[in-house]
Amino acid sequence: MSDDLHFEVLVAGAGAAGLLAAIRAAERGRRTLLVEKNTKAGVKILMSGGTRCNLTQNTDARGIIAAYGDQGRFLHSALARLDPMGVVKLFHAEGVLTKVEETNKIFPVSDSAVDVRDALVRRLERTTAELALGEPVQNIERHQAGFVVMTPRRRVLCDRLILTVGGKSYPGCGTRGDGYAWAEQFGHTLIPPRPALVPLVTHESWVHALSGLTLPDVGVATVVSSRAPPDLQIPPHVLRSVRGRKKNSPLSADRGSLLFTHRGLSGPVVLNVSRAISGHALPSAFDIELDLLPDLKLDALDAELQQAAAADGKRTVANLAARYLPRRLIEALLERLQIPPEMKSAEFGKSPRRALAEAIKQTRIPIAGTLGFAKAEVTAGGVSLDEVDSHTMQSKLVPNLYFAGELLDLDGPIGGYNFQAAFATGWLAGESV
Ligand SMILES: Cc1cc2nc3c(=O)[nH]c(=O)nc-3n(C[C@H](O)[C@H](O)[C@H](O)COP(=O)(O)OP(=O)(O)OC[C@H]3O[C@@H](n4cnc5c(N)ncnc54)[C@H](O)[C@@H]3O)c2cc1C
Repeated sequence: MSDDLHFEVLVAGAGAAGLLAAIRAAERGRRTLLVEKNTKAGVKILMSGGTRCNLTQNTDARGIIAAYGDQGRFLHSALARLDPMGVVKLFHAEGVLTKVEETNKIFPVSDSAVDVRDALVRRLERTTAELALGEPVQNIERHQAGFVVMTPRRRVLCDRLILTVGGKSYPGCGTRGDGYAWAEQFGHTLIPPRPALVPLVTHESWVHALSGLTLPDVGVATVVSSRAPPDLQIPPHVLRSVRGRKKNSPLSADRGSLLFTHRGLSGPVVLNVSRAISGHALPSAFDIELDLLPDLKLDALDAELQQAAAADGKRTVANLAARYLPRRLIEALLERLQIPPEMKSAEFGKSPRRALAEAIKQTRIPIAGTLGFAKAEVTAGGVSLDEVDSHTMQSKLVPNLYFAGELLDLDGPIGGYNFQAAFATGWLAGESV
């Protein structure tokens, strides 16, 4: 082991937040060391957005704050320094042009997450910061006004320490929750980490049989199941926004693309509502309610089906309904309702017609659980925001200790919100040290 080294700033974890923190600190003239466990920087950037990296959302600071619900307030100062436009400009300056997709997600024009990661590493390399790869931080202790940080290779002294080691989802990426123990060691409160943006599991075999089917626009709501115990409690942390919520309204609801899988449900809309289920101790107390045709009211759909059936009595019911939704799905719904798919429209009376319309508008799927941290795109929970100064990202408990990124109790929806928060909080931490 080499002799002690001294840096003004040590940043632990070279993900989105850590790269920005180190860049900013070094550009401000701080002697900075960025230490990363993996042999590459930004591993999660590389795998993000299906390797295309949805780097932010086409909105302003207010749009980001609103999407974070009750956590949004914490992001005001960070976004004042680096908002979505700021992120876009930062990448443009590195030659990474961006495009806005229909969903308002912003991607590099090249559709290459490598370009995003490389841009950040390039900018870091133009500073005096040192990047140490394949060097996990193993232990941290207070040392006078600063810290001593242990890695397998060395002991490093630093005046200020920025922790950006992420959460504990996708542990294969190096994110195994290492930062939580250090935060607790320094007296910080941990909001229990839990998977978010995670696929849901159901035991319903008809759902598994539809594996691979994608629907572009589905309304999805998380509701309390009739199987739930009568005294079921809903802890506020599972809800994105507690204020103004009515007692029996869905715990979470969204509209967008849905994917049937061999274990259950996935796709952006499901990931977005998963937080309410993954955060609860009893995931099986919930159902997912699907509205497969969100633009059509139940009565209007019923009336349309009636008209179509009357217009051509020889058509089969499956054919009739297949103009709305994929045939595989229609056949699965008809089978559940015990309506033969080859039934002629002329025989398709009021009661089966209404039953089909209701199945399309409000099918309930009992949920058994989630795919857990292994497949959660982000970790909800983490270092309590109450104990971190949102103007600087500095700990309110330990001077010269800073937090940024997913290690904090911050988790946003799908759409570039999570990188935006990581970039902005990392930047602010680098600006403050
Ligand atoms: C499959 C997938 C796809 C995603 N797609 C998107 C997307 O398109 N858009 C979006 O906005 N968000 C996306 N996310 C979420 C986004 O990746 C995270 O929110 C973001 O990376 C958080 O940034 P961070 O810097 O806080 O943490 P991370 O990016 O997780 O970085 C933490 C870093 O710390 C390192 N580390 C951990 N422990 C130690 C240690 N002891 N010593 C040293 N280093 C350590 C880790 O190896 C890691 O490199 C996706 C996530 C996943 C898993």
